[in-house]
Amino acid sequence: PSGEEIEGKNVSYSYRTCRDVLKDLSFMITPGTKLAIVGPSGAGKSTLGRLLAGVQPPRSGELRLGGAEVGYMPIEEVRGHVALVTQEHHVFVGSLRDNVVLAKPDASDDEVINALTSVDAWDWVAALPDGILTRVGSGAHRLLPAQAQQLALARLVLADPHTLILDEATSSVDHETEEMIQEAIEKMMAGRTAIVIAHRLSTIQKASKIIVLEKGEIRESGTHQELISRNGLYAQLQRMQYRAIA
Ligand code: ATP
Repeated sequence: PSGEEIEGKNVSYSYRTCRDVLKDLSFMITPGTKLAIVGPSGAGKSTLGRLLAGVQPPRSGELRLGGAEVGYMPIEEVRGHVALVTQEHHVFVGSLRDNVVLAKPDASDDEVINALTSVDAWDWVAALPDGILTRVGSGAHRLLPAQAQQLALARLVLADPHTLILDEATSSVDHETEEMIQEAIEKMMAGRTAIVIAHRLSTIQKASKIIVLEKGEIRESGTHQELISRNGLYAQLQRMQYRAIA
């Protein structure tokens, strides 16, 4: 890639032949944008997130990262630029350090400690008898879900991608944990392009741009205020959400 912009041209995707779940999407995401992707359940939000992260290539159309077609780039290369963050956390068998340096095997202990500090995990790691050498994973020291998530975020700090894609889809953590993780994520988003796949509208009002997907198509795009004034699908989704809360 010769830049950090992400451009989609007529991108379509299908899991099975005969039914496109993303249809002819065209968009440009410029560096530093805070983009939210919203839409009803099944609209294709998570699928688009996976395409943008290079997990799956489009069925047709072009998806380019800094001018280079994402589908032709090795996934390890894409990961150095774009990271997909979900709330599914995997702890690998090995030391806590091993779990963090997966993204950068030659990282020094200082780098590991700095990464853990930046996601507010260093205090509890330092309190473990073996610190970063503590064995974790099945049969070893058990981590709380929030701690596992912090390790995943520390791994990202080391990988240092310019674009983060945050998929809130599988939110299974409690409120307190979520707030803590959210803080660490917000710190990471500063200075990067951030694409939030928002399953709850309350998290997106800070976005500089919002794309509204429905049945695999872009229905609307703009700022929160523009979309509310337009009184279309986004405004309708907002009203439904507030009614559900009330
Ligand atoms: P939600 O808000 O409910 O998570 P979403 O907007 O993220 O929905 P996707 O999960 O991207 O939507 O799903 C888009 C469509 O693709 C849906 O019709 C879904 O059933 C289908 N789909 C998603 N994952 C798969 C899969 N692995 N195999 C087949 N179909 C899938």
